[in-house]
Amino acid sequence: MKKDKDYFKFIENIRDTISPSIISEISPSYLSEPRGLYWNESLHIIKPRSTKEVSDCLRLATKHKIGVVPWSGGTGLVGGQIASDKYHVTLSLEKMNKIRNFSSINQSIEVEAGVILESVHEFVGKKSFLFPLSMASKGSCCIGGNLATNAGGIGVLKYGNARDLCLGLEVVLADGSIINDIKTLKKDNTGYDLKNLFIGSEGSLGIITRAVLRLFPALENRIVAFFGVPNFNSALKSYIEISRRFGQSLQAFELISDEGLKFLEETKMTQSVVKENRSQWYLLVELGFNSNALEQEVFETLDDLYNREIILDVILGDTESKARKLWKMREDIPEANKKVGAISSHDISLPLENMESFINKSLYEIKKINRFLRVNCFGHMGDGNLHFNIFPPNKESNSRYMDIKPKLVEIINNNCKRLEGSFSAEHGVGRLKVKDLKQYCDPGKFDVMCQIKKAFDPLALLNPGVILRQHTHEK
Ligand SMILES: Cc1cc2nc3c(=O)[nH]c(=O)nc-3n(C[C@H](O)[C@H](O)[C@H](O)COP(=O)(O)OP(=O)(O)OC[C@H]3O[C@@H](n4cnc5c(N)ncnc54)[C@H](O)[C@@H]3O)c2cc1C
Repeated sequence: MKKDKDYFKFIENIRDTISPSIISEISPSYLSEPRGLYWNESLHIIKPRSTKEVSDCLRLATKHKIGVVPWSGGTGLVGGQIASDKYHVTLSLEKMNKIRNFSSINQSIEVEAGVILESVHEFVGKKSFLFPLSMASKGSCCIGGNLATNAGGIGVLKYGNARDLCLGLEVVLADGSIINDIKTLKKDNTGYDLKNLFIGSEGSLGIITRAVLRLFPALENRIVAFFGVPNFNSALKSYIEISRRFGQSLQAFELISDEGLKFLEETKMTQSVVKENRSQWYLLVELGFNSNALEQEVFETLDDLYNREIILDVILGDTESKARKLWKMREDIPEANKKVGAISSHDISLPLENMESFINKSLYEIKKINRFLRVNCFGHMGDGNLHFNIFPPNKESNSRYMDIKPKLVEIINNNCKRLEGSFSAEHGVGRLKVKDLKQYCDPGKFDVMCQIKKAFDPLALLNPGVILRQHTHEK
């Protein structure tokens, strides 16, 4: 078969012309992804050590027409890092893991794509700076993957998502050419903004090899508070009041449902801090300051909200260890969800004013299918981003309910569309939501996306099958 021949010729060429040590048979740690929905079909993995080697690999891939699937930390939740064809090679950036130019004057740092997010936190933390992108996968995900997915996480409310935290980028295109846009500038209106085209393109337009990240002076104090609310409308009211009073000091406003706390208890992940007086919804709020001056005002605001019955009992994370414990509870929820086993998981965003209608309408329609289905709705409420995950009835396995999954997906996606939301807030499209993109995207926007893909990657070799299916390199 011609395809095998081309593929093995490509592998041989990589070994002969670059180095035998950069390619090997793929090992088990690259075969699966966090949700267990996809299995990596790649036979080999390439681990380049420099931008030049990435460029050489892509030049050879173009010559032999071989699909290349970039891999950074492998924590992506939409299957984007998983090859769907054994003749598509996986390319991991893990050997490109150097931290290069830290500048306290520019408040920036240059890193290679394979640097783990938490390593950036540790490095800049020692210099009293903050890189605010953060999420539960921070110990494994890498900067290249964060930018390729335009990751969100828990700091978006104040600092924006990965896109807002990137000043410069180096990218290798499908034909091996290199775009060097490594800059530390906050302002640069010199033509088309290519950097922002690559960010969020999930490896379908180019491979990110280096980036300059934006830093902020570390904050000296933070206040973390956890409290229940009598209903969802009170959650919204408390957001409006806290964000109006504290503006930019509000760093995170996270929604947790009682179902989420029950999952933590059921899976023995974390002991819930709520023992009695449970409510349906809770909030985890973080404010950051550089002095103690605002502390008193925060306590007075929480008191005021409590006295007006907008919020219920408050648990304060007033020491670092108590604050960490509260955050751990929030960050363990995805792992608890995984253990319980969802039928369908959704990462959606909505205008805040439509969030309650979305929740009520979706719950009503889901319960009409089966009133015992369980929903764990949680997430970055302040950003308008909810994780809306649907589970089988208690003590039952999700495998028995997979036949209703398409109906559940339709309910969520249709309600998002009707209420002016998005079916993918921060995880991307990957392989999981390719059909949804075609169905729900504005046709004009979709058409331009196809043209951009063709212009950057005419042979459809970069991450084939991700985002846009119809331009996949034909088998
Ligand atoms: C427990 C848990 C919690 C999470 N929480 C959040 C959250 O709060 N917010 C959020 O946004 N995400 C979250 N995620 C998802 C995931 O961590 C992010 O999408 C992360 O940015 C992926 O980074 P990665 O290095 O693991 O990328 P990978 O999974 O390796 O790749 C992701 C995508 O980017 C492409 N890619 C990877 N590297 C490059 C590169 N150098 N150049 C071009 N393309 C590349 C891949 O082909 C793939 O399409 C979570 C995941 C887990 C498991």
